[in-house]
Amino acid sequence: MFSFQNIFSYQQQLSEGKTSCIDAVQFYLNKIKKNERLNAFVEVYAEESLSRAKFLDEKRNSGKSCGKLHGVVVALKDVICYKDHKISAASKMLENFVSNYNSTAVEKLLADDAIIIGNCNCDEFAMGSTNENSVYGSVKNALDESKVSGGSSGGSAVAVQAGLCMVSLGSDTGGSVRQPADFCGIVGMKPSYGTISRHGLIAYGSSFDQIGIFANSVQDVTKVLEVINGKDEYDSTVNQQKSLNLNLDFQSKKYKIALFRNAMEHQSLDNEIKKGIYELAENLKNDGNVVEEINFDLIDYIVPAYYVLTTAEASSNLSRYDGVRYGYRYENNGEDLTTFYKKNRGKGFGKEVKKRIMLGTFVLSEGYYDAYFTKAQQVRNLLSSQTKEIFNNFDAVLLPTVPTTAFEAGSMNKDPIAAYLADIYTVFANLTGIPGISLPLFRHSNGMPFGVQVLTNKHNEVTLLEFSDLLLKNYKRY
Ligand code: GLN
Repeated sequence: MFSFQNIFSYQQQLSEGKTSCIDAVQFYLNKIKKNERLNAFVEVYAEESLSRAKFLDEKRNSGKSCGKLHGVVVALKDVICYKDHKISAASKMLENFVSNYNSTAVEKLLADDAIIIGNCNCDEFAMGSTNENSVYGSVKNALDESKVSGGSSGGSAVAVQAGLCMVSLGSDTGGSVRQPADFCGIVGMKPSYGTISRHGLIAYGSSFDQIGIFANSVQDVTKVLEVINGKDEYDSTVNQQKSLNLNLDFQSKKYKIALFRNAMEHQSLDNEIKKGIYELAENLKNDGNVVEEINFDLIDYIVPAYYVLTTAEASSNLSRYDGVRYGYRYENNGEDLTTFYKKNRGKGFGKEVKKRIMLGTFVLSEGYYDAYFTKAQQVRNLLSSQTKEIFNNFDAVLLPTVPTTAFEAGSMNKDPIAAYLADIYTVFANLTGIPGISLPLFRHSNGMPFGVQVLTNKHNEVTLLEFSDLLLKNYKRY
């Protein structure tokens, strides 16, 4: 029977003829069928992935050179364009919309021999923390189906958690890769802003959005990142210097690590999570690393700044869905254009998306712009300069990923502000553009996993991944 440990050993087995891409795809197709109730996938490309597997098996067996992701079975979040495949951002607004081009990330995956097995459920237009804002319904956490998967990339997270693919892609605007990874007990990484092209990623907040990677190990995240990062003529915000060169040195070096006192002492943080991270810090110290607690006074400003800025960007980005050029079109009974737009947008978008468009339009409106948008930008600038200072002195920052373990299904609908506030530890990386990763080190007495978040300086993915590998190898607590 096929079994998957990591990309390296899978590819070794392929080259020794011990398994095949067909075996792998068949295995995952069966497992996806058995786990349909989790609702992780929107569409599964069964025929297509089998014929791609056959093609790759033939290619390898004929002695042709293989790509870095040869045979790797990948799932995509339903916001990443794959040519000639449906993409909807889990919204009625894009019902039956078919992408007519590949996102750059997909282009690169395919060029390096990956197999795309399907696209995954998510919160509508990537707005949410539970995957309950989806036209396809919510995604269940495979470890406890009464809990949410997290969001917005919940389907991609559960696809890896439940072993329905080898790795998956999500998008992270304010934590949507790291938070569901934390809730599901897997690795979820968001690279620095400008590392992976956003071409073909449906926009939410363009100055925050990054594609991120879910996997079971730091090594697998690294392999995927090596392939999909790099400059792109379609996205001028990609770091144009050179592609990330990830010659990682997975050895134990000594690190200088910061803990944010105000983050660790925050009233929203679960006691066991707090204790777990303090113990980790102690263990790191005992092993010769330096860990220092520092003040981070802006902690209470980061969630408001995030929601002002991202909703402002969303209100502009989502204005393209008017039912004329794109999107859901309600029957037209000869009304005027404004009524026509109102009906299309009113019926096409879900509640959370409409709320954010209105909020974003409000903070950009005359008379309120300076009070909200400009102020939030000032917070963002302050954060960036403080972050530079921090990384002049430290290699990495350790933070919780989320203040609690996975929420009870349905609980956040009753208290939407609580859901926003739970983004307290993840939005910092998006506001400042630094890379972040959630590592599944702990298990709570309530039975659910939780992670620790590692952050490093902008474009220092090398330290992020090396340190993360060390943590996962030596400090896992269950
Ligand atoms: N929970 C955050 C939000 O709802 C994160 C979204 C994201 O990263 N796409 O905005």
